Amino acid sequence: MADTESCPLHYPALEEIADVLERGLKKNFAEVHVKVVDCPDLTGDPYGFPVKGLCGKSRIADVGGVPYLLPTALPDKVYNLNTVAQKIELPGAYLLGAGASCLKSVGMNAEMIFSIKTESASSPTVNGNYIASINTADNSCLLEKYKERSSDHDFGLLSNLYASEGNPGKVIEVKVKRRTGNDNFVSCMRKSLKEHYVDKSVGLGGTFIIQEGKAKLHVMPREYSVCPLNTDEDVDRWLKFYDMKAPLICQSVFISHDPGFDLRVEHTHCFSHHGEGGHYHNDTTPDSVQYLGYFHPAEYLYRIDRPLNTHMIGRD
Ligand SMILES: [Zn+2]
Repeated sequence: MADTESCPLHYPALEEIADVLERGLKKNFAEVHVKVVDCPDLTGDPYGFPVKGLCGKSRIADVGGVPYLLPTALPDKVYNLNTVAQKIELPGAYLLGAGASCLKSVGMNAEMIFSIKTESASSPTVNGNYIASINTADNSCLLEKYKERSSDHDFGLLSNLYASEGNPGKVIEVKVKRRTGNDNFVSCMRKSLKEHYVDKSVGLGGTFIIQEGKAKLHVMPREYSVCPLNTDEDVDRWLKFYDMKAPLICQSVFISHDPGFDLRVEHTHCFSHHGEGGHYHNDTTPDSVQYLGYFHPAEYLYRIDRPLNTHMIGRD
């Protein structure tokens, strides 16, 4: 795997971040409650994660990038999640987040929803990843457990990951209801941090549930585009968009400011227990939507295999 760069992130107290998020979210949601709590046991329903919490040696990793997918995909860009854990100096890390599948591993392009406890000296990998693809029979969304498709721990092209030891501990609980502004839940939190911290980079990762309502999600086609995708409009025509229903469990990573690493500043993928999943854009039911999330800041940022030829297409 290619070069790794890293830097410390600005790492304020949880209470301070909670205040900043609450003030920002109130501009975009009718009801907002943000507080510091003990992380709920994430091995329980509806999460089913292989670890209890989001705490301990927290990091954000941005691996590869959209320029490896667009305008033309590079299928040889393959990464292993255990290797990523070593590169970020946290073997055994729990990783959550969003990315793309490895064509060689699963025989298709697809959305990856990460929830994996990587291997350590004392314990094997516990792969709780999901994969969402377009069902070729009827163009519906097909959500599967990754381990039912492949026994490896790989992905392709790009990913945005939050890493920690997966320990119990304090996290920021965010509850909002009824969207009154245009920003989605994650963009609103990211912009709130940006407004307060300006050019100090604060990165958060965590999980949230869309408890009520529906949301617009996309799933990439199983085959890479034969024609180069040169604009956001080209990309939107290639993707398939769905209106998916709650409850959706969403794995999210975002950072307030790119300190010069060509980052994707937010990326969220969702899974469910009713067969739907994919890349989150926004809820489509602002009057009835409810979100409940648990987030933790990252102490360090790692940038693995940054594309040298870059562009800003397809980063929504
Ligand atoms: Zn995505």
